[in-house]
This record gives sequence, C-alpha cells and structure tokens, in this order.
Amino acid sequence: MNDLRDLYQEVILDHNKRPRNFHAMADASGRAEGHNPLCGDRVTVYVRLEGDRIADISFEGSGCAISKASASLMTDSVKGQTIADSDALFHAFQTLVTAGPDTSPSTDDVGKLEVLAGVRDYPSRIKCATLAWHALQAAVHGANDGPVRSE
Ligand code: ZN
Repeated sequence: MNDLRDLYQEVILDHNKRPRNFHAMADASGRAEGHNPLCGDRVTVYVRLEGDRIADISFEGSGCAISKASASLMTDSVKGQTIADSDALFHAFQTLVTAGPDTSPSTDDVGKLEVLAGVRDYPSRIKCATLAWHALQAAVHGANDGPVRSE
C-alpha cells in the first residue's frame, strides 16, 4: 500500500510542478473563478464548448499542491468529453473524496483521478481537491460567468 501511496504522491507533485493546460484562454466560451478561503487556493477555469462537448479547457491560479494537481488532472480528464460525461466524473470524484477516513470507496469510475483518493483521509483538504471542479461546473453551466448577474 505504501508503494502505491508514494506513486500517487509522485503524480500529485508532478502535476503541481508542471500543471497541464495551465494558461488563460482568449476564445473561451465560459469561465469561472473559485476561491477556497480555508487554504487560500484560487483558480480560474476556462472552457470552450462545441455543442455539448468540452472542446478545450484550461486553468490559471495559485494554491496548494492538492488544488493545483487536482485542477491539472481535471483538465486532462475532461478535455474532449461531453458535458454529461464530465458531470458524471465530477460526481464520482466528489463521492470518492468525501467518503470519509477509513473507507474504501470504489475508484472504478474516476480514472486517473484515483491518485487523489487519499484526500478522503484529510477532510480539511477536500475543498482543495474539489475547488477546480466547482469552477468547471460554474463555467460550463453558466452559474458564474464573469461578474455576478443581476437577475
Ligand atoms: Zn488547498
């Protein structure tokens, strides 16, 4: 088990050091910001939608290794996916990391996001891991597209 933990740790550190899709997007069709005041993590997620597909996705921000690695892994995972598939992945991931300490939830549906499964043992880090996902939801579903709307 320890070897697996070390491997996961390595993947997280690698994504923190060299985050994938880490840039602003000029032709984004949606963007949303997320802020986790508990840890100080900030993230902006950009998406370019084509029909019901996430044709392109990127992010910017600063924060702890978990928040950055999670955002990086998220962009890698959902790029090219349909919105429905990315929603399903978000729910599977959220279920995994909120399962609570000393649980063994299934990781069958989360693909490479499995490396973040250990977050469930650290309740204070769950928001770090899900921050980018909440921003993605807002960017895709238009809940937080730029300044707050009046209606
Ligand atoms: Zn954090």
